[in-house]
Amino acid sequence: MAKLHFKYGVMGSAKSLDLIRANYNYREKGMDTIVLKPDKDSRDGKDECIIKARVDGVSVKGSFIPSEIDEYEEFIKKLRERLKKENISAIFIDEAQFLSKRQVEDMYAIVYELDVPVLCYGLKNNFRSELFEGSKRLLELADDLQEIIGICHCGRKAKQNVRIVNGSIQYTGDEVVMGGVDEKSPIHYIAVCNNCYFKGNIKL
Ligand SMILES: [Zn+2]
Repeated sequence: MAKLHFKYGVMGSAKSLDLIRANYNYREKGMDTIVLKPDKDSRDGKDECIIKARVDGVSVKGSFIPSEIDEYEEFIKKLRERLKKENISAIFIDEAQFLSKRQVEDMYAIVYELDVPVLCYGLKNNFRSELFEGSKRLLELADDLQEIIGICHCGRKAKQNVRIVNGSIQYTGDEVVMGGVDEKSPIHYIAVCNNCYFKGNIKL
C-alpha cells in the first residue's frame, strides 16, 4: 500500500541530498521514478528543473509543477495518464512547501487511487515561523512524517528559518523571497533553534 510521505527540515538540513540519495536507491535497482519541483522555486532558472544538493556535482534532473492553473491542469492530467501506463515506483517532490493546497490533495489522490508512493521534501515553517500552505496540507494528510534534523549555531536542534537581508533579520515581508543559505548573498536564510529565534540571537 503506497503512502504519502512528508520529510521536512529547516534551510540547509540537506533535504535535497536526502531526496537525491533515495531516488538513486530506486533507480539503481532498475525502478523508474519521477522527480518534480514546484515552479515557484526558480532559483536556478525556469528552463530546466534541476534538484541540487549543497555537495558539488550532486544533482538530479526533474520536471516543474506549473503554478499557472491551465498549465497545471494539463500537467496533472498527463501525469495521471503516465502513471496508469508506466510502472513508476515513486514520485519525489522537492521544495514541497511551495505546493498549493490543491496540489497536495492531487498527490494524495494519486497515492490512494493509483497506488504510487509520493515522497515530499520541504520546509515546514516560513521565515515568520508560520506553516507554508503546502506544508500545512502535507502535515494534515501525510501518512508518514519525518523530520530531517538541522543544527543551530548554538548546538541545539534548528527549528526556524531566519531571513537575513543585507545583514539584518527581517521579521515581515513576502513569504516567498528567493535566497539560499550562502552567507555572501544579500538575501539569505539561517536555520536556528527556537531559543535563538525568540531572542534574535543570530550569528552573522
Ligand atoms: Zn540556537
